[in-house]
Amino acid sequence: ANRIVSGIKPSGDLNIGGYGGALSQFIQLQQDYDCFFFIPDLHAITVPQPPDVLQRRTRDIAALYLAAGIDPGKSVLFLQSQVPAHAELGYLLQTLAVMGELGRMTQYKDKSDGKSSVSSALFTYPVLMAADVLLYRTTHVPVGDDQLQHLELARDLARRFNQRFGVELFLAPEPIIGMIGSRIMGLDDPSAKMSKSNPNTNSCVMLMDSPELIRRKFAKAVTDSEGIVRYDWESKPAVSNLVEIYAVFSGLSVEEIERRYDGKGYSSFKSELVDVVIEKLVPLQARYHEWIGSPELDRILKEGAQRAAAEAAPVLAEAKRAMGFASF
Ligand code: ATP
Ligand code: MG
Repeated sequence: ANRIVSGIKPSGDLNIGGYGGALSQFIQLQQDYDCFFFIPDLHAITVPQPPDVLQRRTRDIAALYLAAGIDPGKSVLFLQSQVPAHAELGYLLQTLAVMGELGRMTQYKDKSDGKSSVSSALFTYPVLMAADVLLYRTTHVPVGDDQLQHLELARDLARRFNQRFGVELFLAPEPIIGMIGSRIMGLDDPSAKMSKSNPNTNSCVMLMDSPELIRRKFAKAVTDSEGIVRYDWESKPAVSNLVEIYAVFSGLSVEEIERRYDGKGYSSFKSELVDVVIEKLVPLQARYHEWIGSPELDRILKEGAQRAAAEAAPVLAEAKRAMGFASF
């Protein structure tokens, strides 16, 4: 069966970028794929996280996955730190990854830029991510634009491992890209991605924002002076970004949205955009509140970790055997 692994780091509160690029896609993909959705808490600590905040956010994101519609009967939902095979395979793969290729990762460059102290784990992050997907012999990985380079590395490491150790163990997973929502940019600056670890308050709409706040943020969102609702990232990035958000939250296609606002200006477009966002987020927030207070959440995560560990164990064992580790 075609299999997917993907996750959202508990490195900040979730915004509509993570909803478009991850959550909303997960919900669609779980219909057709065998899905492993995890919370990469080990990745979150590549930049310092206060332990109490990490703990709260991890549970928060789990509740949001469920609130958004991840079905734990269908998909496996778990925390990365509860399946030690991730860290173990991550280490093994570090012995195959070279400094030069990791130094070329643009996300590393962006995240380390201007910082006086950067953890070595931030540098090796893409190798752990490779372990995350290779461990489950994943066939497909849905990624936002920003993760494509990391997935390419995972594919390289899969092939390198198989070749060096003469096995057909790891699969080179294909990216699932170009789904609507894969690229949501800041509302104040359509050249910078909406990112949860960079929450300039006017740039991001958070999933837990109140309707009033959502309305205020979209009112301030930049557009252009043309007054035409058209999807064209080259010449109209700000408006295209809003159309993309509209598409994610309404389920309409870009063409349908363009047609709907043909001959109308930005003000009715923006105000109805706010309506479709609120219409999705208000019930999601209510379901979030139910999950976050429920011990059922912890039970689902615990069971998910057991299911994930059972899948990962034979693959890790085979990798270690191929590398020459004792197997008694
Ligand atoms: P951080 O800034 O800590 O890296 P993030 O907002 O980039 O946080 P991640 O946990 O790194 O979130 O990403 C989770 C998933 O959401 C990834 O698949 C990523 O591609 C996707 N994603 C994140 N931000 C966006 C965005 N603005 N538009 C579309 N997809 C996004
Ligand atoms: Mg990121």
